[in-house]
Amino acid sequence: MIYIIGAGISGLVSAYQASKEVGGNNIVILEKDTNIGGALRGVFYPEQGMHFDNGTHIFRMTGIAELDQLLINCIGDSQVVFHDKVKIGAVYTNKLQENSHYPDIRERSNLNELKKNIFDTQLEKSGINIREQHVNLLNFAYERFGALYSNEILLPALSNLFRSDPKCLSSMALNLSGLSRCIAFSEDEWKSNSTSTDFRSVFGYPNQDTMPIEFENKLKQFYSKENGTNSLIIGLKNLLEKAGVKIETGVIDFQLNQKTNTIIFKNRNGTIIQDKNPIGIILANGLLGSAIVLGIPIPKFQKTPRLAMYHIGLDSSPKRNLAYFCNFNHHYSFFRATNYKMLTNNCNDNRITVEILVDNPSNIPAISEIIKNLKDIDFLDNERVSFCEFAYLKSYYPYPDLKNTQFINALKTDIAQHKVPENICSFASHGGAGFFQNNVVALAFEETAAFIKSLK
Ligand SMILES: Cc1cc2nc3c(=O)[nH]c(=O)nc-3n(C[C@H](O)[C@H](O)[C@H](O)COP(=O)(O)OP(=O)(O)OC[C@H]3O[C@@H](n4cnc5c(N)ncnc54)[C@H](O)[C@@H]3O)c2cc1C
Repeated sequence: MIYIIGAGISGLVSAYQASKEVGGNNIVILEKDTNIGGALRGVFYPEQGMHFDNGTHIFRMTGIAELDQLLINCIGDSQVVFHDKVKIGAVYTNKLQENSHYPDIRERSNLNELKKNIFDTQLEKSGINIREQHVNLLNFAYERFGALYSNEILLPALSNLFRSDPKCLSSMALNLSGLSRCIAFSEDEWKSNSTSTDFRSVFGYPNQDTMPIEFENKLKQFYSKENGTNSLIIGLKNLLEKAGVKIETGVIDFQLNQKTNTIIFKNRNGTIIQDKNPIGIILANGLLGSAIVLGIPIPKFQKTPRLAMYHIGLDSSPKRNLAYFCNFNHHYSFFRATNYKMLTNNCNDNRITVEILVDNPSNIPAISEIIKNLKDIDFLDNERVSFCEFAYLKSYYPYPDLKNTQFINALKTDIAQHKVPENICSFASHGGAGFFQNNVVALAFEETAAFIKSLK
């Protein structure tokens, strides 16, 4: 048997890939939760007939044609909505900016000085990589944008968003918030400078609606109208079960003895199952999960704020045509709001979700306060709340505290250097580009193919 640990999107995609080579009857997926799907599970409220995602909503294609087609097929023609672009905005100085989620600095009195400082910095740039997630935010920001823009705009915004002194944050804060560029040029000025990749990597195009097609990301994004990300999970599950793959949920105490090549776990009935000669074991249960199974000590993580979420049904759809926006209001900070009508292309869709970083449970803003804030910035008009649920998320973004991100990086290295028998594969050791789902599924797809080949 080949065992896949974890039934999130990585585990399911991995099972699909493995089943093509060895046949579904030889594969068992073990999931500790009573439901499959991991971070993409979502929540359905039967009384209201409403589905909400849990933080992750839209999928971007991976560029691997077979994989993209597989995922789109899982959703089905009548449900899939394609987007060339998904509009995101942000709140700066208490104003909702719709043109871009990058800080638009064109109205600042010292614009020329800011631009000069960024350009001078670019000339001296030592080639810092935007994908480096565990380096000090201050150094990273100075090297990318210069001191002036960093001190005046970027660092205060990030410090407010993550409620932390920027000295303690890592460059991952920039990736998580999407603040990797700024808007400092008009459309014509931008176009005349656009041949330089350095220029484009720091200065964003100022209008989301008129972005020249040659600079758009060619990989489309897609969403499932009714069941959101959960559609992918249901679609994959059906496909796998048809192929004969067994999915065991409610499995606990999974243990792996690497020396004797034995696995042992308790199934949902409490029966202890042992396999003394598994052909292969694929760990698709995240970085910490993999480390635990492999017996690699986990560094002490800094206490992180939890991520909580309001699922909200309004009496009519929101006023604005933005899919997402982030709030950088200095008096009141929530992380991200999602406007479902822009994901489903249904102008009557009245669902929104609001993700909040919760550092102290007694400080969770009441729903009335959130709605007032959304009205103050003109995202909502007179809409009223007709349904609302609050929940903490099970999984959370790795908080971009410098110590945490360095721990994550060190753990990835430990896992990569940890010698495992040839019949074990762990995606966590190849951490690579990141924690975004399209990287994650591409990795699961490609690593599984290579692993199965190596077993043969
Ligand atoms: C709030 C939030 C917002 C996000 N937003 C975006 C976004 O906008 N865009 C984007 O691209 N990505 C986003 N992501 C990331 C994306 O959701 C993840 O990259 C992806 O879902 C991870 O899938 P996975 O299968 O690797 O892990 P998971 O979904 O975490 O699945 C791992 C599974 O393993 C199981 N497991 C763990 N240990 C064991 C064990 N010992 N035995 C058995 N089972 C075990 C868990 O129960 C879980 O079901 C977001 C993530 C979060 C949390």
